[in-house]
Amino acid sequence: MNIALIAHDVKKEELVNLVIAYRDVFSQHTLFATGATGYKIAEETQLGVVRLRSGPLGGDQQIGALVAQNEIDAVIFLRDPLVALAHEPDVSALLRLCDVQCVPVATNLATAELLVKSLERHDLAWRNIVHRYRLERRSGTEG
Ligand code: PGA
Repeated sequence: MNIALIAHDVKKEELVNLVIAYRDVFSQHTLFATGATGYKIAEETQLGVVRLRSGPLGGDQQIGALVAQNEIDAVIFLRDPLVALAHEPDVSALLRLCDVQCVPVATNLATAELLVKSLERHDLAWRNIVHRYRLERRSGTEG
């Protein structure tokens, strides 16, 4: 599965710690992250991370575009809840697209841990089943 990881500066250590704690789970998936978040995760865990632009420079929107194309299966986005950020519209847009595509998104550490445990149990496999079903129907219709 493709997992997107984003953390605002005050939350980066929390996210890195989550990835360290569940390294075995994360290592089985393809990780996408905004620039600085991805750098820290890769540095601290040695896991491969597809790094996009930094959040304030468009990285949240790049992840949003992947969500819109249904190419992301889960998002962990640990936001700074106490500060208004210049790129708040990008953050809201990403969360909205997650709702549009029914992509599970965790915005705090407690929910993030539940999401990781779901990944561990393959609870999100239904998304692949639906995706395959749609592809088969589409190719059946076209053929
Ligand atoms: P960053 O971006 O990982 O480049 O710090 C995160 C964000 O602010 O959305």
